[in-house]
Amino acid sequence: MTSSKTPQILNALTSVLGDSVLQPGSTEYEKDNGSYFSAFENEVKPSFIAKPNNVEQVQGIVRALRPYVLSGDCELAIRGAGHSPIAGSANVQDGVTIDMRGLKGIKLSDDQSVVEIAAGEIWTPVYAELEKYGLTVAGARVGRIGVAGFLLGGGLSIFSTRKGFACDSVVEFQVVLASGEVVRANAEENADLWRSLRGGMNNFGIVTSFKMKTFKSGPIWGGITYYHPEVIEEVFPLIDSICGFPHDGYPYVGEHDKDTHLMYSVGYGFGQKVVACVMYHTQGEENPRALREYTGVESPIDFGYRRIKEMCTMRTSTQLEFCEELSKFSSDGSRQFWASITIKANDTGLLEDICEEWDKTLEKLKDAEGFTFTLGFQFLTVSMLENSAKAGGNAMAIPPSDGPLIIVVINPTWSLPEDDDRIFKAVENLVAESRERAVTRYRSSLHPYIFANYAYKEDDVIAGYGKESVSMLRETSKKYDPEGLFQKGTPGGFKLPK
Ligand SMILES: Cc1cc2nc3c(=O)[nH]c(=O)nc-3n(C[C@H](O)[C@H](O)[C@H](O)COP(=O)(O)OP(=O)(O)OC[C@H]3O[C@@H](n4cnc5c(N)ncnc54)[C@H](O)[C@@H]3O)c2cc1C
Repeated sequence: MTSSKTPQILNALTSVLGDSVLQPGSTEYEKDNGSYFSAFENEVKPSFIAKPNNVEQVQGIVRALRPYVLSGDCELAIRGAGHSPIAGSANVQDGVTIDMRGLKGIKLSDDQSVVEIAAGEIWTPVYAELEKYGLTVAGARVGRIGVAGFLLGGGLSIFSTRKGFACDSVVEFQVVLASGEVVRANAEENADLWRSLRGGMNNFGIVTSFKMKTFKSGPIWGGITYYHPEVIEEVFPLIDSICGFPHDGYPYVGEHDKDTHLMYSVGYGFGQKVVACVMYHTQGEENPRALREYTGVESPIDFGYRRIKEMCTMRTSTQLEFCEELSKFSSDGSRQFWASITIKANDTGLLEDICEEWDKTLEKLKDAEGFTFTLGFQFLTVSMLENSAKAGGNAMAIPPSDGPLIIVVINPTWSLPEDDDRIFKAVENLVAESRERAVTRYRSSLHPYIFANYAYKEDDVIAGYGKESVSMLRETSKKYDPEGLFQKGTPGGFKLPK
């Protein structure tokens, strides 16, 4: 911290947390600050890491630091599990990072209809606890990511077609406001704050717990099937079946069979390209009709469904085990980021164009050490958007009539800092070119929504929520944080448009 107030800030923090304030140079600080998902977050060095274990300590930190933040002497960051890859999203150079991972607890209500999850949890223990009761929640598809950042960014789950965005299942947030007061936000109490936090990220307060609706969950059928890259041309036209267009008499994935969930990607790594489909039937129906077009794709080198066992993990299992399967595909500390665009699902030609551009970008970058590159497709079906709209409102406010939508997710990873600039630039170009094509060549297929959880650092995510939503969020910010502690004093994450 460069501020002359550094000693006072340290005193203020230790008066609340005692030894749980980490300082540069200590082993604990290095370990804590080196444990983010991306190397870019690890490279940000806060002056202090504050590690609260309970709500009172979070309140104490906010009250103690508030004067320094408002005077401009100190900046804050709020860290969940640290899976946002953007430098400075959940960390802050020369400021104070509040690491929320000490807040633990998963508590089922007496009638088992709601579970309260503390802000420091990740998804694996949540599913493990709920499975004891035959229950689950519409949480992340990957067990290792943070509950807090995932839900505050909206969240896509394998149950999304039935349940909407994951945040639509949050019936109550417990929040420490800029004043240090702790409030509950639900449909009756502070309903504007409740709606705003559903997708509104870290703009209004520090969330200390989330109450989510539970539902019964039994065996699930699903897994990953890999295909030879040549089948991409076979897979793209199948998109019609996800998006609700008639397709060779098959029931539509996600629309007519709302228990199916599918995402697919084309990826490059270790000199190879591969197409992968991740598919689920959340009611456990084996190889359901709606997914058969995908499970039936046979690749020229026999990667097809059940042809080569290790290239196809489709099976009946539990949500817990499926989210552990996907957890194995990522590791912490690489140079990596996401970028995404949202397009209307009205022309598969656009997907082919984006794929072509992705290929050209790959050719330029594949000599970078440790380079892997994924282009993924995830779907917001009309049913999902309708169920989202019925759930009481959220910050994203996507009209169901805009659906079906496709989120195109781009994810490069690499090893060396000297490749940073060219990789960021090339991927920025790929995104710009894809947006341009969506607008000009494909009947205005670009949608303004940008999914916060996979957004690029430069994107104005909240502006993409639309004017009405932006004005609601501004009102919420004015009411609950009139001095702008979470706007000006907490620079990380996607802020409200100026
Ligand atoms: C391997 C992997 C798989 C993923 N899979 C999915 C998926 O299936 N579906 C999906 O929707 N997304 C997915 N994501 C994206 C993920 O949801 C986001 O990266 C999310 O931000 C992670 O949450 P976190 O708590 O770990 O993040 P952090 O990096 O800790 O935080 C992200 C943002 O949330 C804010 N924040 C965190 N905690 C709080 C709090 N308590 N109060 C206020 N603000 C807070 C931070 O300040 C920061 O700006 C995945 C990401 C990874 C790396």
